[in-house]
Amino acid sequence: MLKLKNVSKYYYQDGMIASGFTKVNLDLNLGEFVVITGESGSGKSTLLNVLSGLDTYEDGEMYINGEETSHYTEEDYLNYRRSYVSNIFQNFNLVNSYTVYENIELTMLMNGRDKREIKPIIEDLINKVGLKKYRHTLVSKLSGGQKQRVAIARALANDTPIIVCDEPTGALDSKASSEILKLLYEVSKDKLVIVVTHNKAEIEKYATRLIRMHDGKILENKVIKKIDLDDQIKSRDVNNITWINKVILGVRNAFNIPIKFLLMFAIYLLITVTLISNYGSLKIAEYEEINYSYSSYFMDDTDKRIIINKKDKSPITESEYQSIEKLSNIEYIVKNDLYNDYSVYMQNGHVYLDGYLRKDKVTNVDYGKNINGDNEIIVIGNPDSYYLKEEKEEVLKGTYAFSDENVSFRGKVVGIVYDSSLSEYSYEFIFSDNLMQLINYSTNINANKLKININKNYLNVYDNRIGISNKVPEGEVYLKDNLNGYCNNYNCFNSIVNLNATNIYHNDNIALKVSKVVSENNSKDLIDGQVDNSYISLYINEKDYNKLFNNASYQSSVYVKEVKDVELACKDLNDLGFNTLALRESKRNDAEMIMNIFKIFRLIVIGALVITLFFISYFIMKIIYKSRNSYYTTLRTLGSTKKVCVNILMNELITLATFTYTLFVIFAILVKNNIIKFAYLTKMTKYIGLKEYLFVYLILILLSLLMALRYGRKIFKNSIIKTYGERL
Ligand code: ADP
Ligand code: MG
Repeated sequence: MLKLKNVSKYYYQDGMIASGFTKVNLDLNLGEFVVITGESGSGKSTLLNVLSGLDTYEDGEMYINGEETSHYTEEDYLNYRRSYVSNIFQNFNLVNSYTVYENIELTMLMNGRDKREIKPIIEDLINKVGLKKYRHTLVSKLSGGQKQRVAIARALANDTPIIVCDEPTGALDSKASSEILKLLYEVSKDKLVIVVTHNKAEIEKYATRLIRMHDGKILENKVIKKIDLDDQIKSRDVNNITWINKVILGVRNAFNIPIKFLLMFAIYLLITVTLISNYGSLKIAEYEEINYSYSSYFMDDTDKRIIINKKDKSPITESEYQSIEKLSNIEYIVKNDLYNDYSVYMQNGHVYLDGYLRKDKVTNVDYGKNINGDNEIIVIGNPDSYYLKEEKEEVLKGTYAFSDENVSFRGKVVGIVYDSSLSEYSYEFIFSDNLMQLINYSTNINANKLKININKNYLNVYDNRIGISNKVPEGEVYLKDNLNGYCNNYNCFNSIVNLNATNIYHNDNIALKVSKVVSENNSKDLIDGQVDNSYISLYINEKDYNKLFNNASYQSSVYVKEVKDVELACKDLNDLGFNTLALRESKRNDAEMIMNIFKIFRLIVIGALVITLFFISYFIMKIIYKSRNSYYTTLRTLGSTKKVCVNILMNELITLATFTYTLFVIFAILVKNNIIKFAYLTKMTKYIGLKEYLFVYLILILLSLLMALRYGRKIFKNSIIKTYGERL
């Protein structure tokens, strides 16, 4: 039983009191179809709002099944509404962007029902109100009468014992009105239905009780049809919305209004792109800063180079090289590290070529031929470099002289290879094996302390070079006759020459017996080809030479595929037992201060950006979500708490953020793998790792949560009646 005893409702406005209704007494029961009439302003709506718990009263007592309600808190009213009351409004209060089905489903999802389980119930209700054809039509496309049918179906789906209808036909033409009233009567046989309407004539035939109001008072309260009074109004089962239903609604709301979806997509994309691109370009600037700085010790200071040696300073074995090659981010290894820092300058007439030794292999020669004999050279350069473009015939002509402080030779360029990754002014060279042996000698002299001793006399090693000749037997040495002065009787034949070479890795001695003393002329054919013989004073066998300089690999250079791999590669190499010196790091020390400035700068820029974006997006989102007020008011009239509304909105925003971000990340992956080609973007994506991607996603989620919380606070600032009233 719903009972009012001397209940009055006052409105306080602008310091004045207005009366909604005064001293109303009423007993209503299940099974009744109550019709309330009266002129505008007579207090009908106020009475309905109090009866349905949408509004409080000031005076008197309202009883629900005998329970007095004056002590009711907001939460008590909410529970009362959820257990007992459904409302039907003049302006329908439906969700226009949902279909007929979804509108009815909404109230059941809010009640924690299972989406699949309720399908037949909803279909049944839709048939009952005669909208089978419009099941999946958007409510915004329906006529007024059809909309009110949806509202009735929704009230039935809500399954409460009391249905309160405030002028349900106020917005309908007379034909639609009578149809709606008839439907209302038919579908609500064993409920308590309270209808406010002006269509008195139409509805009188259904009414069991007629109430006429005037000036806030009940003038007439006439029972037309006596019904079996059922004192107890049974409440329906009240369940809370499940998290899965909140997700279903959040995802639905994310996509169901195309324009809102596009705007939100644009905002999230803007935030993502701005953050990522700023971070990326700052990172690129930082890396390039390092590229411009240089290493003071190494000629080849590309960032991709890592110099390694064994922790115990022992030679690196073949199997160790193999395990290095197996590391995923290694491009190639240069076993003899000394070659990396060896520069070459060659001249032939007016052609000057300078550069470094080529490190990785070259298989195809673009012009000329490959090396297949002694004293041959291949030049590698940019296809636009002057000599290799305009004068390539000239480059292949004649003999080049080459020398450094330790060796000199002459060689012929036989082939040209084009490599556009080189600059136009820098070349790389591949030498035939005999020429490489000379370069090896030169690098060894530089990297070792060499002592040559004959008869306790130490020779000047720069003026008395060692020649490698396999015409000299192992263990012996041929000596130029200009060294005879160091020996007894001016003859070194059968003397012993002691050689010692040492550096941080080794200390090796060999003693060789002089088995021939040769003149300048006789020495010519000891070494083939074009090697300049004049400075060479000792000729020894290759095996002895290797013993002397201990030509094992103590120190090598590893080149990584990408600069960003350096750190990880160093770690892997350390794990394999190597000391590492990353050129990038040794340069970083030089550039440390600039780096730190960059880091602080980056932090400030990103920080300012995050804050600015946050406010801009919040402002735009606020405008977009203003239009969503009616949706959340509808949820409230269906019995949703603030927390539920906020949760649903959070799910919606997180869905939008995740959707946008996923698309962005897919795009980034395509760019990174060069499937979509933007040189700068590709470069940028290389510097952005998982950490940065997660960080940006976190920002998006954070923005979504804050937005949902603030918006929730805003829509619940006002009561339903006020929010509802503002929309009329
Ligand atoms: P009806 O629905 O019969 O047209 P209402 O219940 O809306 O009448 O209004 C009854 C009285 O209460 C009217 O005098 C109206 O001015 C007053 N009233 C209604 N709502 C408010 C309100 N929110 N603030 C102040 N006065 C109100
Ligand atoms: Mg009214």
